[in-house]
Amino acid sequence: MSAEDCEFRTVWRTTVRLVAVACVATLAAACTSSGPSDDSKLLEPVRPPARSASLLNEMRERGTIRIGVKFDVPLFGLRDPATGRLSGFDVEIAKAIVNRIYPEAEDPLNHIEFIEAISKNREKFLQEHTVDLVVSTYTINAARKELVDFAGPYYIAGQDILTRTEEISSGRIRGVGDVNGKKVCSVTGSTSLNNLRAAAPKVDTSVTKDKYSECFESLQKREVIAMSTDDVILLGLSHGSTEFALVGNPFHTEPYGIGVPKGDDELREFINDTLQKLFLDGTWERAFRATIGTTGATAPSPPAIDRYPSAR
Ligand code: GLU
Repeated sequence: MSAEDCEFRTVWRTTVRLVAVACVATLAAACTSSGPSDDSKLLEPVRPPARSASLLNEMRERGTIRIGVKFDVPLFGLRDPATGRLSGFDVEIAKAIVNRIYPEAEDPLNHIEFIEAISKNREKFLQEHTVDLVVSTYTINAARKELVDFAGPYYIAGQDILTRTEEISSGRIRGVGDVNGKKVCSVTGSTSLNNLRAAAPKVDTSVTKDKYSECFESLQKREVIAMSTDDVILLGLSHGSTEFALVGNPFHTEPYGIGVPKGDDELREFINDTLQKLFLDGTWERAFRATIGTTGATAPSPPAIDRYPSAR
């Protein structure tokens, strides 16, 4: 569970308590006349209110879509400091979706404002409507689905370890079990950190960063012996290097989804339909080849979309 999840739950529990105290102290009559279903109504405002109309219509009228992406993850979302341009698979997927929202547009980039969404900000950004969508190596999981919704998946990654080549060639690190007692960097608010701690309970995670590029710097400076996150992120950071290599023994499956505000089923369905089209018309594969494929990786089959039922 991420720090944000914990924070949310703490706020939630605190609010439950506050509501209960207020109920006893001042609203006794009103509260006691209510059954359990009314309690849930009292709790409702704690969650950011779902918009009555879908964000899809609002975005069409507004003419701009704010999309949270990574700025420091090669192959997925990387910002060129000289030009300010972003590149990567997530950026291509975002552009293809925006293309379908504005079919008349000459260039989808004219309709996108990219905002950096680091791992720990993603749920918050969607809840506070800082962004409309998150396309940011964002794993779909049950804890996050309490706070946001996901279209997709559009890619399935696996969590692995990146370390110095000699750690692998010497046989010292062959899999996640071998990092117990060793210093391994991962990122706050990511599934990677939780998965790592679960798979290697004695791992030393005293070096934890906000961004993957910062973990890679720690690895380069020998502050840690390894870093762990999704294999494609590690591949992007280390591609072309002989000093660092992936262990190649993934220990957790990470399905990437497109984060949308909780309860906006119309938007989620629209993006699911769009992804399905991108899978079928070759756009998805072209995006893969232009980004992840530049490392020599061959495009897998696109994953099956999970159209899970609305929680509402
Ligand atoms: N896919 C994982 C996650 O969503 C790790 C990568 C990331 O932090 O963006 O937490």
